[in-house]
Amino acid sequence: MSDIVIIGGGVVGLTCAYEIASLGATVTVIDRQQVGLEASWAGAGMLPPGQCSGPSAVRNLAKQSTERWSQLSADLLEQTGLDNGFRQCGALQISLENRETISTEIEAWANAGVEAERLDTSGLMKYEPVISDRLSIGYRLPTMSQVRNPHHLQALKQACLSLNVKLMEGVDVRELSLVENRINAVSDGSTTIHADQFVLASGAWSEQLAGLAKIKIQVEPIRGQIVLMKLSEPPFTHIIEDGPRYLVPREDGHILIGSTEERVGFVKENTEQGIQGLIDFATSVVPSLVNATIIKAWSGLRPKAKRGYPYIGRHDHVDNLVIATGHFRDGLSQSPATAQLVCDYLLDRPRPADVDSLAFTDASYGDTK
Ligand SMILES: Cc1cc2nc3c(=O)[nH]c(=O)nc-3n(C[C@H](O)[C@H](O)[C@H](O)COP(=O)(O)OP(=O)(O)OC[C@H]3O[C@@H](n4cnc5c(N)ncnc54)[C@H](O)[C@@H]3O)c2cc1C
Repeated sequence: MSDIVIIGGGVVGLTCAYEIASLGATVTVIDRQQVGLEASWAGAGMLPPGQCSGPSAVRNLAKQSTERWSQLSADLLEQTGLDNGFRQCGALQISLENRETISTEIEAWANAGVEAERLDTSGLMKYEPVISDRLSIGYRLPTMSQVRNPHHLQALKQACLSLNVKLMEGVDVRELSLVENRINAVSDGSTTIHADQFVLASGAWSEQLAGLAKIKIQVEPIRGQIVLMKLSEPPFTHIIEDGPRYLVPREDGHILIGSTEERVGFVKENTEQGIQGLIDFATSVVPSLVNATIIKAWSGLRPKAKRGYPYIGRHDHVDNLVIATGHFRDGLSQSPATAQLVCDYLLDRPRPADVDSLAFTDASYGDTK
């Protein structure tokens, strides 16, 4: 019997476990495989300095997460000795096709209180001389950061273990026992786990699991492919981003090239077309990458809430379940504030009024069939 059972050990579930266990709760994290191997592992680790569109609750979630990353990383380092690779590296936002919205984007960042420096070709090349001189317009976000996903997940896992969080790996939750308006236990058919409260943080698989508690949410998997390249020295230090595609340089010369957005169900694989498209993009932006060694490629399934922003909250009809899912392209970056908000629900702490918009409506309850 735990105080809290968290279903899903991705970055959202593990950060929730870490935060609530730090406050003294007895926590169990259940995952059907080893924790931290799905979207949270596959991601590129970009941490934008906030978000300048969408509902205010989401913008606040992004802002609060940005403010929390540095301290969270320092705490994890102190508690585990593991460096998660959090670095403020800055980003160059570029446009191979001279995106017309560049000016609007700079203005939106300024309105959000985030520094954004407009750049022409020579300005871009001043910061990163290796980029193509075909690029004529862009801007710099000096406060954009990055983290190395596998290192961060490892640090979170170790920190959770040191706080006596119980990890139940290899338990594929298939049943929720709902008694009136409370969940009594979850089970994989053979192991049954009881708790006072439950958190559902199962990424792209959350829609089906929420349905077991009669809560109707719409979360679909959107595949993203990544190609990993390597040079002996890091050729540039900024993240370079062009809309959904990007290059993320690591300090050891690895460069992640991402990413595709594909609606292919739960099929986690790479395609020739996906990989070639990313390589072509990379060499168009940084021509010298033709000399880079391609190390490997992978893909992951982003949990996309069809309504366009994540579900975080408690449903009126199920008293002891908090759902935190559907972060799509921002689940890693927004995990710190998501976990704080989940703790607010679990502990019945006061919450800002606008966060109710991240929860659910009465209409999203009932038998799913
Ligand atoms: C290619 C790519 C690049 C990305 N880049 C970034 C980025 O730069 N910055 C950023 O912020 N975000 C990025 N993202 C998005 C980010 O990775 C996700 O939003 C985030 O990882 C979601 O975390 P999660 O914990 O909700 O889900 P997941 O990491 O998918 O974790 C869900 C967990 O639930 C478990 N689970 C599922 N079903 C069950 C069940 N029935 N029983 C038990 N366990 C179950 C799974 O095994 C898994 O471990 C990227 C994603 C991809 C794919």
